[in-house]
Amino acid sequence: MCRGCFPTRARLSSRGIHCRNDCVLCGTNYEDSIHVLLQCPGAMQAWREVNLWDIINRTLRRNYNMDALIFSLLDQLPAAQKEMFVTIMWSLWKRRNLKLWQQKNETCLQVVERARHLLDDWRTSQEVISHKATDILAQPNNVIHDPVIE
Ligand SMILES: [Zn+2]
Repeated sequence: MCRGCFPTRARLSSRGIHCRNDCVLCGTNYEDSIHVLLQCPGAMQAWREVNLWDIINRTLRRNYNMDALIFSLLDQLPAAQKEMFVTIMWSLWKRRNLKLWQQKNETCLQVVERARHLLDDWRTSQEVISHKATDILAQPNNVIHDPVIE
C-alpha cells in the first residue's frame, strides 16, 4: 500500500487499465486508497466504531497522502490500536472485494467483527508460540548450547 501499488480503481486507471473510477461501495467518489480505506462512508463508520476516527481525521488534515498518513498514525498509536488500525484496513479492503467480486454487502459491524476475530486469533497464536518457547526452555534436557566455533 505504501508503495503505491494498492489496486484501487484510481490506481488501475493511472496504470492504463480501462475501468471505472467510482467507489465500489458508495459509487459516488473517486476510488483511491484514502477514499476506500478511510473516507468512504462505511469506512468512516467502522473507524468510529473502534474509536479511531478522530485521530484518523486529524491526521488526514495534515497528511493527505496515504504513505505519510499510515506512518504518522503508526507513530502516534499505542500497540493495541496499531494492530486494530491495520486489521480494520484489511477488513475494509476485504469488504470492498466481496462487493466487487461476489456482490456481497456487509455491514460495518461485520467489518469490525471480522477484524476483531482475526486480531484475537493472531494474539492467541502469539501466546501459544510464546508458551511453547517458554516450555521448551524450561525443560531440563533442553539446554541450549552456544554454537561451537572452530
Ligand atoms: Zn466509497
